[in-house]
Amino acid sequence: MNRRCIVHIDIDAFFSAVEVLLNPSLKGKPVIVGGLPHERGVASTASYEARKYGVHSGMPLRKAYQLCPHGIFIRGNFQIYSAFSDKFFRLISHYTPDVEKASLDEAYLDLTRCRPLYPSFSSTVREIKQRVEKELGLTVSVGVGPNKILAKLATNRAKPGGLAEIEPNREEEFLKDLGIESLPGIGPKAQVILRMLNIQKIGDLWGLPRVSLRSLFGLNGDEMYLQSRGIDTRPLMTASIPKSVSRETTFLEDIWDRRLLLAHLAYLCDRLTLPLRRGRLFAHIIEVKVRYSDFKTEARRRLLISPVQEMGRIYKIAQELFLQFFSSSRLSLRLVGVKASDLVRGRPLSLFEPYSERPERLGHAVDEVREKYGFGSVLTVREKMLEEIYSFERKRGFVLKTASLTK
Ligand SMILES: [Mg+2]
Repeated sequence: MNRRCIVHIDIDAFFSAVEVLLNPSLKGKPVIVGGLPHERGVASTASYEARKYGVHSGMPLRKAYQLCPHGIFIRGNFQIYSAFSDKFFRLISHYTPDVEKASLDEAYLDLTRCRPLYPSFSSTVREIKQRVEKELGLTVSVGVGPNKILAKLATNRAKPGGLAEIEPNREEEFLKDLGIESLPGIGPKAQVILRMLNIQKIGDLWGLPRVSLRSLFGLNGDEMYLQSRGIDTRPLMTASIPKSVSRETTFLEDIWDRRLLLAHLAYLCDRLTLPLRRGRLFAHIIEVKVRYSDFKTEARRRLLISPVQEMGRIYKIAQELFLQFFSSSRLSLRLVGVKASDLVRGRPLSLFEPYSERPERLGHAVDEVREKYGFGSVLTVREKMLEEIYSFERKRGFVLKTASLTK
């Protein structure tokens, strides 16, 4: 098989680099984007100056403040970052149609098909890097390898601002002395177990037979076996990402009961998360739309620095937005809708709060059960209420007047 040419590009300390670009007086200072020191939540990005104090993305803001009290804390402006991200992807798409958007500031390019266009491959990669840096005003790190995992590990080595290429037949040499924690398939728990077995480096893993890894870690063990040898056949996820996903319900009769409206909203949020999970999509914008009895339509949206996928979090945001419509008078509505937009594919680890896979796995488990036994087989408390209200009305002889629960 022909060796693939995969290039991984990652903007260095993206959000804080944008802040420095917009406000040059921040240059050389520890900049932490994500919120103010007393606020709840976590740092989304820390500049390299802040990292020297041990601050990293995903760290609670309070902890970041303890480590770096003179740091400059900024809430961040997602709209600006999003504009930079759009420009970044426009620039790199110029070189190949095979681009995977791994997050706002991280991309894989597959140059295999385009290779004949670029006789001097290395200088093309350098050109991409320079062009992005010049036109964005931000530095990027670039890794080149025969597959995604090696390209990404090369980028990690190149950080910040460098370019690293893993040449043919040098893969083992490159991997051998990297710590086991550098493999994405080896989480904190697996690290503890492996360290007890005195396995510290990727090279140490090679001594373990595949069956042993499998008996220790199940299917993850298989993954480790392959990753540690730099084997990765995953294609790029180049399928275009939808602009948005939305769900809405028009009621046959206007509803004013807030409890009932919230129950509908919960149901819509639940419906919305299925395509998000299927497409591995996370949303940076959540929007709630209402239409009043006089047909006037209004929408409210929230921009999120950390994108969301999980039903519980989306509902919480949607609920807050929804309740803003009810500041004064009691209103009756003929439509309610929820929309997720500015979607990214794959969980952008660096932007995330202490990462737990649990909600994601729970979501997939729910999808499976529903596929077998129908949507109504798993309902949240609010949805249950919706169902009860309607079955109660049915019993009293009312016709079910809104969109059915399981459509
Ligand atoms: Mg980055």
